Amino acid sequence: MNVATPVSPAAPVLNRQRFEPKRRSLTVLTIERVTPSMLRLVLGGDDLADFASAAPDDHVKLAVPGPDGTEERRDYTPRRFDAARRELTLDFALHEAGPATLWALNARPGDTLDVLGPRGSAVVEGAIAHWLLIGDETALPAIGRRIEEAAPQARITSLVAVTSAGEEQAFSTAATLEARWIHRPASALTDAAPFLKALETMALEPATYVWVAAEASVARAVRAYLTETRGVPLGWIKAAGYWVMGQADAHEKMG
Ligand SMILES: Cc1cc2nc3c(=O)[nH]c(=O)nc-3n(C[C@H](O)[C@H](O)[C@H](O)COP(=O)(O)OP(=O)(O)OC[C@H]3O[C@@H](n4cnc5c(N)ncnc54)[C@H](O)[C@@H]3O)c2cc1C
Repeated sequence: MNVATPVSPAAPVLNRQRFEPKRRSLTVLTIERVTPSMLRLVLGGDDLADFASAAPDDHVKLAVPGPDGTEERRDYTPRRFDAARRELTLDFALHEAGPATLWALNARPGDTLDVLGPRGSAVVEGAIAHWLLIGDETALPAIGRRIEEAAPQARITSLVAVTSAGEEQAFSTAATLEARWIHRPASALTDAAPFLKALETMALEPATYVWVAAEASVARAVRAYLTETRGVPLGWIKAAGYWVMGQADAHEKMG
């Protein structure tokens, strides 16, 4: 008698692409408040002629002046790139401190910004039945881009924490999207509990690819819950700390 063994779906692969490291000098074209705490800048310039960003969770480094005038660099997501118009969109989740945030708040059309990278992209490839995209405000640019660029057959659930209903964003997508929002106060940016509570009631079907980015302690707790308690295989989750409470220019890779 043959006994059928359940076959686990093959884990997706990360197709890594490298780009020539390059510093580009760009000009601020437009500034818009997407929501009260999310500032969108569109930058343009001929330096974007050979810009490439293959994955929604790519990052560029912004070269901004620090408090003593020396250059500081901070990571931001290429929220959208329009090659024909040579326009790069960046979204800034506003918070109280930091040279990148300060620069964005003071930016005016015509100002210049030097942008480095991306140095590479990691494109997720595989038979993914369902995407689960989890994050805080700093992850919203990558999550929004992935939703907007998704294929029509993709099924996506997003779970994003913001401070109020007024910070929720609408995305246009060809995919099937269930957008879930968590509301927690700005004093609870490092509290993973609202994410864990929302995840407890969420069914995780096989071949769900989970992407997580938030403050490092939150991302770590969410990753631990999903892999240890819910049994998400390591090849099916990518988590990152996009910032670290109390530390400037800090992030954490978790795999
Ligand atoms: C791959 C990657 C992509 C990213 N993409 C984006 C993006 O598209 N948009 C975006 O807004 N951010 C993004 N981030 C996060 C961003 O790089 C950090 O928030 C960064 O610290 C902001 O720089 P800053 O100069 O404003 O503050 P910093 O000088 O780095 O930090 C100053 C202080 O502010 C705190 N802090 C930093 N960020 C926050 C925050 N969001 N809320 C509250 N306190 C904070 C720090 O803990 C520190 O105490 C990304 C990070 C990574 C690693």
